[in-house]
Amino acid sequence: MKIQNNNVKSLLVLYRDISLLGKINGLLGWDLNVNLPQGASEGRAEQSAYITKLITQKWQSEEFKSLLERVKSEKNLNNYEKAIVRNIAHGAKYYHRVPEKTIVEFSRATSRAFVAWSKAREKNDFKSFLPHLEKIVDMSVEIAGHLGYDKNPYDALLDLYEPEFTTEKGKKIFSELVAELTPFVKKITSSKTYTSYTSPFKENAEFTFEEQEKFSHFVLSKINYDFDKGRLDISPHPFTENVGADDVRITTRYKKNDFTESIMIALHEGGHALYEQGVNPEFEYTPLEGGVSLGVHESQSRFWENQVGRSFEFVADTFSSLESYFSDRFRENTSPKDFLLHFCRVSPGLIRVEADEVTYNLHIALRFEIEEALINGKAKAKDLPKLWNEKMKKYLGIVPKTDADGVLQDVHWSYGSFGYFPTYTLGNLYAAQFTNAMKKDLDFHQVALNGQYKKLLDWQRKNIHQYGSLYWPDELVKKVTGESLSTKYFLKYLKEKYTKIYDLS
Ligand code: MG
Repeated sequence: MKIQNNNVKSLLVLYRDISLLGKINGLLGWDLNVNLPQGASEGRAEQSAYITKLITQKWQSEEFKSLLERVKSEKNLNNYEKAIVRNIAHGAKYYHRVPEKTIVEFSRATSRAFVAWSKAREKNDFKSFLPHLEKIVDMSVEIAGHLGYDKNPYDALLDLYEPEFTTEKGKKIFSELVAELTPFVKKITSSKTYTSYTSPFKENAEFTFEEQEKFSHFVLSKINYDFDKGRLDISPHPFTENVGADDVRITTRYKKNDFTESIMIALHEGGHALYEQGVNPEFEYTPLEGGVSLGVHESQSRFWENQVGRSFEFVADTFSSLESYFSDRFRENTSPKDFLLHFCRVSPGLIRVEADEVTYNLHIALRFEIEEALINGKAKAKDLPKLWNEKMKKYLGIVPKTDADGVLQDVHWSYGSFGYFPTYTLGNLYAAQFTNAMKKDLDFHQVALNGQYKKLLDWQRKNIHQYGSLYWPDELVKKVTGESLSTKYFLKYLKEKYTKIYDLS
């Protein structure tokens, strides 16, 4: 990476502190989720808040602001320099346009809302969460106003998570997905293969955490996750933390009665980590480090989880290993096909994080529509339980009996993360479109069947990972696939795969 412009050089020096502080905060967050003694949460909140304050001050310093303004009007920047300025300007929007008073108040409101949400969910008491939700919606509308937008205040929030993603693009994507997937789910659930499903496990089979941990290590090594520069731990909600280019950690969880989730989490978080481990090391501590957006990041995890982990090839390749670990708890005569059906089981359910590939995006469509309505004042927070249940009925044909299994199930709104949910769907779409391009360059079927996952990773490294945040999502997807993001490849992928798995005609 060649940096010639002196103002960009100075800006990078200042940015380095922001990046370093971010990683220190990340480590505190990792420790909070993995190791923290129960009584230590107050102290950790204090420490983390202090680092956040330092980061905010760095973004808001006069030196940083004036340097950024100067650099924005520079003419002859090279591509690296342009991307650096673009990324900093994008990140600075929040800190420079939203008044400090609002940032602090929002942080306080969301901290309180998170605690209220946890209790409300536990007690199935939406009413106790409602005043917090109302406050967060009001403040999100205010923040969108500060950030600025052309057509829709929701655009300002979407752009925080996925640069240049808009309500209009989202409406098109979700209407296409809903139109195709709702009838497809019905077709699957009325098939003979669906109704005759039986678990591949013996009744009351149990799998110890130690066994599952070993198998997760085996799977992660297979996909070339670098354990010398990472580690696997346990946390209630799995995540990936980049503490540094040589320290990308992942977490997982284990269920006693089924190891499927732990395999899929290892592949998913492993996919996020491979992306971070594969970025050009010269980008570290600059605004080009790390994955470019949440949507593209999610595509790299969904690729390993779904395109690979839930494929006939992966199951065929790993079946003998599964047998050597767990076969005494398999039903008699289980075959790879039984495991493919188990891993790819489609089942319209209430909970998003447990959803299969086919129904998953319907859960997101519902959240996208509700967020858009809330931010535009077309829906009121108090009406959410009713709205939620109506949409569940319409898209998935089921209605939750409790708000805990409905509108209260996700943490995101208590964090104030309006605009985050759609990036999960974007991840699925990017993954399918990238894989379609990958399959033109290599024989996916043979490569995966023979467990040559390094070849898949090399393709990702060459086409996606190395660039970090150099190209924005639309630039990247055009560069790799020749066109902008569409639902076409994802729908084709799902229909071909599940028509085969469920013997549909
Ligand atoms: Mg993810």
